[in-house]
Amino acid sequence: MATPNRFAFFNGEFVPIEQAQVSVMTHALNYGTGCFEGIRGYWNADEQQLYVFQLRPHMERLRRSAKILFIDIPYSVDELSQIALDLLRREEFREDVYIRPLAFKSDTAIAVKLHGMTDAFALYAVGFGQYIAGSTARACVSSWRRIEDNIIPSRAKASGAYINSALAKTEAMLNGYDEAIVLGADGQVSEASAANLFIARDNVLITPPLTSDILEGITRQAVVELARTELGVKVVERAIDRTELYIADEAFFCGTGVEIKPIVEIDKRPVGNGAVGPIGAQLAQLYSDIVHGRRASYHEWLAPVY
Ligand code: PMP
Repeated sequence: MATPNRFAFFNGEFVPIEQAQVSVMTHALNYGTGCFEGIRGYWNADEQQLYVFQLRPHMERLRRSAKILFIDIPYSVDELSQIALDLLRREEFREDVYIRPLAFKSDTAIAVKLHGMTDAFALYAVGFGQYIAGSTARACVSSWRRIEDNIIPSRAKASGAYINSALAKTEAMLNGYDEAIVLGADGQVSEASAANLFIARDNVLITPPLTSDILEGITRQAVVELARTELGVKVVERAIDRTELYIADEAFFCGTGVEIKPIVEIDKRPVGNGAVGPIGAQLAQLYSDIVHGRRASYHEWLAPVY
């Protein structure tokens, strides 16, 4: 069971979580005008240490999302990182955690716009386990299409955009699958509801490019680097057709929440022979070692809390 969280950083100070409240009139609640991050911290019991994975890259992306949405965040990347670490220390977490910074339009006015508004910032963290239970996932191709960059900026982690993710995820789960694979408006594979996607064909890893309306995933970037440097596997960023999913040797999701999750079935077809493939298995193990601080050469990807 996750330990209940007790604090939030809200309106410039640390407050008890019950005091971090907004009005029902809040712009972001009414129109989805916020942006956020999802960051994981991993508890290493041997070292009695909590390691936050890729903290700075997440705060950099938060600032980029905010820039697209005309949201002013009055903190630098360093300050945001420090706020997260301070909060975790205050919480005294000794378990895996999920950290949520949120920047949003806090006005209580009826006004559908982004400029000339008041912005707020909050950050909290909760104890967190697996996002998809088990070591593998069964997926379907969603009947929903991924938001297009010119409709809702897909590379901004915008609150309102998650209506799209939630529709795809709920459809998939109500139909008995773990996760949805979402096609772009052009009919080619974009990503999952809240994760990026790789397939492997003939020992080459393939993932949709940054221009396929994906979120610019931080785990995705780590996977590209790890596959090339640690596994010596070639990685290609190119468009993926739906039917390539059905004939791929391997497929896996990657993301902060889902971590690296091999996909063993897509639209009722086994991926490869239906068992976890070697590339996915190696990457999942390597990723787990790195995030828990068990690979010294990747310690620069981690921020220790204690
Ligand atoms: N795509 C979407 C839509 C997501 O919500 C996430 C999770 N943040 C990802 C991809 C994976 O991104 P990251 O590896 O940075 O968590």
